[in-house]
Amino acid sequence: MSKPVLRVQDLAVTFTSFTGGWLHRKERTLRAVDGISFELHAGETLGIVGESGSGKSTLARAILGLIRPSRGRVQWMGEDLTGLEEEDLRQKRKQLQIVFQDPIASLNPRMTAGDIIAEPLWTFYPNMERLQVDERTRGMMKMVGLLPNQINRYPHEFSGGQCQRIGIARSLVLNPRLLICDEPVSALDVSIQAQIINLMKGLQKKLGLALIFIAHDLSVVRHISDRVMVMYMGQAMEVSAKTAMYRRPLHPYSNALMKSVAVPDPKLARAARQESWLTGDMPSPYQRPQGCIFHTRCPYRVKRCEADVPALRRMESGDWVACHRAEDLDLAI
Ligand code: SF4
Repeated sequence: MSKPVLRVQDLAVTFTSFTGGWLHRKERTLRAVDGISFELHAGETLGIVGESGSGKSTLARAILGLIRPSRGRVQWMGEDLTGLEEEDLRQKRKQLQIVFQDPIASLNPRMTAGDIIAEPLWTFYPNMERLQVDERTRGMMKMVGLLPNQINRYPHEFSGGQCQRIGIARSLVLNPRLLICDEPVSALDVSIQAQIINLMKGLQKKLGLALIFIAHDLSVVRHISDRVMVMYMGQAMEVSAKTAMYRRPLHPYSNALMKSVAVPDPKLARAARQESWLTGDMPSPYQRPQGCIFHTRCPYRVKRCEADVPALRRMESGDWVACHRAEDLDLAI
């Protein structure tokens, strides 16, 4: 097998805040991402799922260096990005790009579609000929399904789906090798979501991109991913091949999430939701449970789960799980 293009090792991000006013000032730490490790190959898609507050978006930003991690390493093509100076990191971002969630809010309303797409070219290649930039921009518009003659239109003249196409064209204009999509379709109508997902799939195949796809909609992740990582309170609970994850997940939390996957038939969907036993909210990130972080919501917990932290370990299948009882639980969907 080829070498991974991206290697994330024990990555952690903590945020510090203060409470209690001047006299009784207390420092508190939020562990938004807590020891995430995984590898990604060219042409591969890793889906990342989890409830809101699980640390998915923070992880994405830490991989790109938009947030400095407090621990761990991000290696891109064998080079450690976490030790780079700001300018070197900025240069690396030509190869590592992101597509944001809200397509309309993420575009500058005062710039034309053409200028939005071309802006990264002006930034990284200030001496590039105007004609060349124009040609590349029109080519990108065509590639994402926009008409090149829409180049001088403003974002408000496009639909939400078209705005996301502009965002995708902008993220690809520098010819990156890794694309991180952070909930790229959650603000769009269901009918448009499928078009954008199919577009991304096609572009990935054509360009050989490594893709990280973050979403809370599990059916969307299922459609596009090769492997899926399930996150809970900043930690990876499971990293498994897509088919295994959706048929027989290894971790109780994955099982609960997979059982709540949207089913098109409303009757079946109701039954699926009833089957999903996940209740209650995630604990406060400032009061993290001891032992297994999921034990306060896990119906399979045993005494050991309250004291011992389960390490993320590799199973015979090649999938990874952080659960003491992974061998003896049958969590088939
Ligand atoms: Fe549940 Fe225990 Fe496994 Fe945690 S380690 S998921 S509490 S069975």
